[in-house]
Amino acid sequence: MKILVVEDESKTGDYLTQGLTEAGYVVDLARNGVDGAHLATSEDYDLVILDVMLPGLDGWGVLQAIRKTGRSMPVLFLTARSQVDDRVKGLELGADDYLLKPFAFSELLARVRTLLRRGRSMEPEVLRVADVELDLLRRRVVRGGKRIDLTAKEFALLELLLRRHDEVLPRSLIASQVWDMNFDSDTNVIEVAVRRLRAKIDDGFEPKLIHTVRGMGYVLETPEAA
Ligand code: CA
Repeated sequence: MKILVVEDESKTGDYLTQGLTEAGYVVDLARNGVDGAHLATSEDYDLVILDVMLPGLDGWGVLQAIRKTGRSMPVLFLTARSQVDDRVKGLELGADDYLLKPFAFSELLARVRTLLRRGRSMEPEVLRVADVELDLLRRRVVRGGKRIDLTAKEFALLELLLRRHDEVLPRSLIASQVWDMNFDSDTNVIEVAVRRLRAKIDDGFEPKLIHTVRGMGYVLETPEAA
């Protein structure tokens, strides 16, 4: 578990880094907002602890930079200001929790643990597109209320098509994501798998969702986007 701490007060920054390291986390410390935003958007962190008042780019700016790149790791704000305005602003920008300074380290650690747990469970457990539902935990697929039995590869293929629906997926990408290897372009393994999957997902249902895009690949297209 890797945590980024963005804090300009050197005492607090060092104290947090030391405490979190002792608690078993890998910690990077940025001492200003610009460095913090750079690290948060170029490295992979499981959590960011972000001071609001920072020289240069403040905590709000760092948070905006993080969310703009589509990163959804939890962000815990540290703020000396207790105004309701600040909290609302932070929540609107996508902060996950607040801690008012001064705080006890034990409280910070408790919040960190909660956020990290929540962060892991934020992955949706059911993918839904049109009337297809794919349950990642129970490994079940339902269309129009009817249970559909898939092999492990068909399940993985459908999961990929659902996650990136309305996007044409080249065969090479499907090969690397579902079979974890590269296929020669003349192999028909993918073609056969898609045909079998399509028979299970689309036969007897309307609208047809899985389409071949000649010379390019495959797409699971939602009716609205078609
Ligand atoms: Ca500060």
